Amino acid sequence: MLNICVFEGDGIGPEIMAPTLRVLDAALAARGAEPLSYASHPAGAGHYQKTGEALPEASVAAARAADAILLSAMGLPAIRKPDGTEITPQIELRFRLGLYAGVRPVRVFPGAPTPLASPRAGEIDFVLVRESTEGLFAHMNEGIVTEDDATELLRITRKTSEKLFDFTFRLAERRAAQKGRPGRVTCVDKANVFRAFWFFREIFEARAKAFPGLATDTAYVDAMAMWMVQRPWDFDVLVTENMFGDILSDLGAGLLGSLGLAPSADIGDDAAVFQPCHGSAPDIAGQGVANPLAMILSGAMMLDWLAGEKDMPVLALAASDIEGAVGRLLAEQRDLTGDLGGTASTEVCADAVIAALGQP
Ligand code: ATP
Repeated sequence: MLNICVFEGDGIGPEIMAPTLRVLDAALAARGAEPLSYASHPAGAGHYQKTGEALPEASVAAARAADAILLSAMGLPAIRKPDGTEITPQIELRFRLGLYAGVRPVRVFPGAPTPLASPRAGEIDFVLVRESTEGLFAHMNEGIVTEDDATELLRITRKTSEKLFDFTFRLAERRAAQKGRPGRVTCVDKANVFRAFWFFREIFEARAKAFPGLATDTAYVDAMAMWMVQRPWDFDVLVTENMFGDILSDLGAGLLGSLGLAPSADIGDDAAVFQPCHGSAPDIAGQGVANPLAMILSGAMMLDWLAGEKDMPVLALAASDIEGAVGRLLAEQRDLTGDLGGTASTEVCADAVIAALGQP
């Protein structure tokens, strides 16, 4: 049985986690797959307020030992450390577990409220892979600020870049096989101005040679920001540095039309965390109206990743059933929560996903 470490987190976190676990159970049962075993562990702003600890060591150990980690949302603006910063154990986990590959799928389901008016918007289906442990974040909190200037350091290592690109190429191969068409990976950088990005690009091109079945190309980040608005349907898999990825992934979430539809994964060599892109939404917490779909789609990403890791294809089928069911709700504009223009509660929306599983 696969063990899933669950962090319910803060705000709407517990409200969207419970129905997500129900959806995962239903999807696995419908495919005759063995259920997952879930164990919930404490972390987050609420836990910090009670105990003075945001991410207990026992929770990190449980996360390390699990087959995968499902995390909802953490942090509350009103609860801060003495230095005024917010409680962000989800970011600490990325560094502690070496989760270098941030995977942000941008797939516009027909019926989703994308702000793009183009009839081709429904074709948008790409994945952004954001390096998540170095780049401009490698030395965060160590910036040097004097009266007259401020300096930050960007660091890109060969070791992490090689792992990042290999991961990205394997992901593109898997997508190409699932979709039955050739795959393409675009390296997004600023190699025309910064030597560090030339270094990044050269490693990309060197590693690409081991994946001759994939098309590869490169793009400057400023141009990519424009193309993600003008012709986002042209891209398959993008890979980039941490800060560029931070910005472009929000642009991608903007294309989806709602944070409530944006899932994500943070993947390393020995662990992987799956969580929605949105925060803990304290303004609507406790009302039962939060959109569970980003959390549910993150759960589907977890099943798809476990399918490859554990060589259990049935999990990929269950993942694709969940995506199909979410797509059906959006296409039919029914049982959606308020952020998507509907009136359904969190539970009603999740129940509708369960009812739509496996429907033609
Ligand atoms: P963080 O910095 O922790 O990522 P944030 O400041 O970006 O958080 P969110 O908590 O993501 O903010 O909330 C931004 C807005 O989106 C809020 O108005 C919130 O209610 C809304 N929102 C976020 N997630 C959902 C959701 N799942 N369902 C409905 N509304 C949501």
